[in-house]
Parts: sequence; C-alpha cells; structure tokens
Amino acid sequence: MKIERLLRADTLEEAYEALQADKANTLLGGGVWLKQLNRKISTAVDITRLGLDTIEAGEDVIDVGAMVTLRDFETHPAIAGLGNGFLVDCTQRIMSVALRNVATVGGSVIGRFGFSDFLTALSVLDVTLVFYPLKKLSLEAFLHGREKPTGILTNIVIRNETGTGCFKKNANTLLDFARLNLAVFRHRGGYRIAVGARPGVAKRAHESMAYLQGRESLEKEDVDEAATRLVSHVKLGSNNRASADYRKTVAQSYLKRALQEVNGR
Ligand SMILES: Cc1cc2nc3c(=O)[nH]c(=O)nc-3n(C[C@H](O)[C@H](O)[C@H](O)COP(=O)(O)OP(=O)(O)OC[C@H]3O[C@@H](n4cnc5c(N)ncnc54)[C@H](O)[C@@H]3O)c2cc1C
Repeated sequence: MKIERLLRADTLEEAYEALQADKANTLLGGGVWLKQLNRKISTAVDITRLGLDTIEAGEDVIDVGAMVTLRDFETHPAIAGLGNGFLVDCTQRIMSVALRNVATVGGSVIGRFGFSDFLTALSVLDVTLVFYPLKKLSLEAFLHGREKPTGILTNIVIRNETGTGCFKKNANTLLDFARLNLAVFRHRGGYRIAVGARPGVAKRAHESMAYLQGRESLEKEDVDEAATRLVSHVKLGSNNRASADYRKTVAQSYLKRALQEVNGR
C-alpha cells in the first residue's frame, strides 16, 4: 500500500465527499488489511477523530462504533455477556492481540472476507449495519443481498438478546485462516446457525434452522437431520485450504457438537 496524501476528516460529510471525489481515495479502518495489498491510494481518509470508537450497551441493543478495535470489542463486558461470550471465543481466534489492537470492527465487516471468523459469529445474531449517508441494512442483506452500499459504515448494532452461543473454527494452526468455521445461537424461538470459510463468506443455514424451530429438547435424530440439511443446502466448496468433502464432514461434526454445547450437554 502506498499513500500519497492523508486526510484527517473532522466530519463524516468531509470524509464521504473525499471518498466520492476519486475512486483511488480510500477509507482507513485499522489499515491492517489494506497494508497487505499492493495498492496506490491517492488520499487515505482517516476517520479516527469522528468518535466512532465506542461501544454503547443498552438493554435492547449493543451499539458498536465501526472504529472500535477487535481487542476493545472482545474485552467489553457487554460483548462477553452476550450468548455466554461466544463472540469473545471467536474474536480471540483471530491472529494475535497485536493485530486485534489495530484491526477494526468496521474493516472486518466491510471486507466481506470469505475466511472471516468475525462475520460467521455475527451472522447468528440480529445485526443492523448503519451507513453514512443514512442507510440501514441487516448484516444478512449486506452479505448476500444485491444492494452493495458504498458509504461509510459508522455503526454495527447488535440486538441484546438472551441466548447461548457457540463458535467453532477449523484451521491448520492456531493463527491460520479458517478452513471452515461455524456458529450457533440458541434463543427463545429456536436456533440460528451460520457457516463460513465455505470458502465463501458466512451464510445462515436456513433449512437446518427451520427444521429445529420450536423444538424444546433435541433428540439424536433431530441433530443428525439438522446436520444433513446443513450440508445439503449450504454450498461448501473446495480451495487450496480444504476440499468440499472435508468441509462437509467438519461442518456436520461441528454442528452436532455446537448443538450439544448450547443445550448444556
Ligand atoms: C495477517 C492477517 C490475518 C488475519 N486473520 C484473520 C482471521 O483468522 N480471522 C478473521 O476473521 N479475520 C482475520 N483477518 C482480518 C482482520 O481481522 C480484519 O478484518 C482486517 O484486517 C480488516 O480490518 P481493518 O480495520 O484492518 O480494515 P482496513 O484494512 O483498514 O480496511 C479494509 C477495507 O475496508 C474498508 N473500510 C474500513 N473501515 C470502513 C468503514 N468504516 N466504512 C467503509 N469502509 C471501510 C477500507 O477502505 C478497506 O477497503 C486477518 C487479517 C490479517 C492482515
């Protein structure tokens, strides 16, 4: 990455206008991912002065500013308290504390990285993304809808709901990218399930979720059926990290274990 100029924006409007002025102008999150790219940036737009680095936890929602670092996210009590801390388990599996001290929540969402652990864990929650100029979009619509907002992501709003979560990651080494990851959130009405590093970006397993809807206690056959539906309806492919068959085996096994864990077994 080569930066020609740096603009330290004082308002969102100023930052947005700079981004609209030239395609080669780029917003900086933590800059960790951008640093890996061989890209020439005319004006790098810095939004660190805009107060987007706080987490506000209310009864109904946890409002996370886009410039909150992954480290501040994982160490916040409200995040630890949601779904038995599964978001913390997930975030702690992303590289090192040094990287997480710099990488931001906003950059982690906007990247739509296929390997993302963070997006898989968030995908089992009710998450709304807030963009400037004013636009709100559910995380699922952002990841899989046709509309791709081009504005600045300012906030990630997570519904503060009661439930139990579980996150699983399969990788070659502790610090490596995932070969597959999976998250489950058990809430009052049922289960939300998401699989990522398929190798595509996180996707909800709607067929498995519908099957488990309203089931109070799960029998072995229920868990097996949910796992079968998962690999029949969510596309799992091959790349240089793992084959589709490997991913299918891991996904089924992780789902069975995660369902046991969220049910306290
Ligand atoms: C070596 C390495 C290993 C990693 N391993 C993992 C892993 O195992 N699991 C995992 O989940 N993640 C992993 N990541 C990804 C990392 O966690 C972050 O998601 C990534 O670095 C992006 O965050 P950032 O703040 O650095 O974004 P940046 O590099 O600053 O930006 C990334 C892109 O997002 C845009 N952007 C940033 N913020 C905003 C915003 N608010 N609004 C609009 N656009 C914005 C930027 O313009 C840029 O195009 C890894 C990253 C690296 C470099």
